[in-house]
Amino acid sequence: MISVFDLFKIGIGPSSSHTVGPMVAAHRFVAMLNDTVGLGRIGRIKTELFGSLAWTAKGHGTETAILLGLSGYLPAEVDPDQVEEMIASITRNGSLELGGVRAMPFTLEDDLVPNKKELMKRHSNAMRFQAFSPEGGLVTEKAYYSIGGGFVVTDEEEASGGTGGPDLPYKFTHATELLDLCRTTGKTMAQVQRDNERVTKSDDEINATLDKIRDVMFACIDRGCRQEGILPGGLKVKRRAKSIHAQLEASKGANIRPAHEVMDYISLYAIAVNEENAAGGRVVTAPTNGAAGIIPAVLRYAKEFCPEYSIDAGRDYLLTAAAVGSLIKQNASISGAEVGCQGEVGSASAMAAGGLCALLGGTPEQVENAAEIALEHHLGMTCDPIGGLVQIPCIERNAFGANKAIVAASLSLRGDGTHRVSLDEVIETMRQTGLDMLVKYKETAQGGLAVNVADC
Ligand code: SF4
Repeated sequence: MISVFDLFKIGIGPSSSHTVGPMVAAHRFVAMLNDTVGLGRIGRIKTELFGSLAWTAKGHGTETAILLGLSGYLPAEVDPDQVEEMIASITRNGSLELGGVRAMPFTLEDDLVPNKKELMKRHSNAMRFQAFSPEGGLVTEKAYYSIGGGFVVTDEEEASGGTGGPDLPYKFTHATELLDLCRTTGKTMAQVQRDNERVTKSDDEINATLDKIRDVMFACIDRGCRQEGILPGGLKVKRRAKSIHAQLEASKGANIRPAHEVMDYISLYAIAVNEENAAGGRVVTAPTNGAAGIIPAVLRYAKEFCPEYSIDAGRDYLLTAAAVGSLIKQNASISGAEVGCQGEVGSASAMAAGGLCALLGGTPEQVENAAEIALEHHLGMTCDPIGGLVQIPCIERNAFGANKAIVAASLSLRGDGTHRVSLDEVIETMRQTGLDMLVKYKETAQGGLAVNVADC
């Protein structure tokens, strides 16, 4: 089962696959050491990064994430405002608190090594951790793969088909199966997803966690609208959300306001989140950090502009978006390193389109149509972040993904749900397009805008 809470995770920026995933992996490795050999037997840990992680480690915050994970922190727990000082302290002292319990020597140069020559077979985003005794002998080693959206797997989990899971009332792998379930049960996609969530959580827990996710999403928009200055990383990208917000607020009293102003609000919400993400702030992975602005922006649009919005409708929006996201994750990918940006921004836009269509009263067929339209019109989109930073094109791209999601939901609601291209066909097309895409367009910052725009 891919839970709504797997797809929407509270974490920190700037990247789910390069920040959240590596932090989780490092934390898991330390926990495994603690449970098996004990942290007292460890004198040093060396981490090797492969593929996209090696190429864009600095810009995507991977080094920071590994240090925090080794120090015992998880993405949802770490305070983004403390991170800079924590990393500075490790660098200054040449030592980190392994698992948060004991000091261990650590230097970036010797203990965190990008390997740009080799690729691990399982996935481009690979990490190998090696633990050494105080005398220098190898104690154990393990590889982890950050497969997108903050998900992390090992070879053993991959070989056993995952970590297992509970028996679900409704099993669906493809949109056709999900639609059949909706037809035979008379339930919406949100209700099908909720029934599956009920296997592990009570309704009160589901609602409380969904509301927390919504609150973190909205808090991120609000904080992004208050911040100004230059984003970190050296590209000198100026934050824009505060200025756009001020302009929109100032125009509220005007007699004549452009009809397209609502699109500026949608863009503002997305840009605010992605600027926070680029600055390493608190965001909800949705379903990745690079695409974290789209689902909150469309939900905020619904809250501010759609009379159909309510707390329950917002919960159904997230559950429906998760059902759509699980179809994409099961059959293609939500990882830019696997299929390019179509898998990140395209997936988020499809999830938001489906969610909004449901929130506005669409049938399951119209929801499927909305998701299909949004994903279809992101097909082929490459991942080519300048300087390996999740800033250009990522921030504006979220604004477009959010607006496209609303267009897709609206178009689908103008029809009756029947359409020529199915969501399953578009997901399969995205998978094949991703396979054909050159590695330089898959989050390596080796092609596209990343090589045609000067990064200084
Ligand atoms: S270009 Fe798209 S996939 Fe690549 S880092 Fe930016 S948002 Fe993510």
